[in-house]
Amino acid sequence: MRTVANNLGKNSLKMRDYCKDNGAIYNSKTAIKRFGNWDNTLKKAGLEGEKSLKGIEYGEKEIKDEVLLADLLRVATELNNPNITISEYEKYGKYTHVTMGVRFGSWNKAKEKANLEVTYVINNSNEDLFQNILDLWTHLGRQPKYGEVISPNSKFSGSTYARRFGSWRAALEAFIEYVNSDNSIEEPEEINSQLIPLIVSSKNSTATPKEVKIKRTPRGINLRLRWTILKRDIFSCRKCGSSPAKDPSIILHVDHIIPWSKDGETVIENLETLCEQCNLGKSNLV
Ligand SMILES: [Zn+2]
Repeated sequence: MRTVANNLGKNSLKMRDYCKDNGAIYNSKTAIKRFGNWDNTLKKAGLEGEKSLKGIEYGEKEIKDEVLLADLLRVATELNNPNITISEYEKYGKYTHVTMGVRFGSWNKAKEKANLEVTYVINNSNEDLFQNILDLWTHLGRQPKYGEVISPNSKFSGSTYARRFGSWRAALEAFIEYVNSDNSIEEPEEINSQLIPLIVSSKNSTATPKEVKIKRTPRGINLRLRWTILKRDIFSCRKCGSSPAKDPSIILHVDHIIPWSKDGETVIENLETLCEQCNLGKSNLV
């Protein structure tokens, strides 16, 4: 019975789950004959009794709504199915669909409550989650705390990070590892549309402009580079010194010093942090 409970990842075992499909060798009737009733059988096996299971089903207060929803989300995410079925949840869930129904009104209401975020989490890559950390970090001018991972400054909840990475701390560690991973040598992109005249021979007066492919850094400034520049510039505008940490209305951009359109490359030396106002001022001058 412990093996079967373990196979299911549970501390307790429902009678109908003690079956061959879940790795049972005997059957529940044998166990009941031997130990009197199912609850007693569970206790003899060192598992949680059926009564504590029922307690959960009928709404034990110490289990918070978010814990129940988090478990629903976990299973849906693991199965990659936002429309998780009752039998799927009964198989992989820590609680039961009855518990969900009692707590949220109905199974569908529980799902409804969780589904939006299921879809959200499944559809969002780590890159999106890291981008949000960078935005939050920039907004605060320092490492965000778990309690600060809330809207409107954060697009995702702290528990979304906890589910994906194990904890908020682990999410921060993954973020730091990601943004510090070496990208100094970014593969230049081949620009097909670029035409530059080549004088093939000075003797040949009929030399015509020739179409060649040249390699340049990509125009877009990726997350790692933005992190590097923002951190270097201490999350503040390089021209006027304003920062979102001091004035939340300030919005910072990482921008090319020599515009990409004027052959400025997307490299650390050619990037700077500017506030929206200074950035606008700059583009008027260029
Ligand atoms: Zn500024």
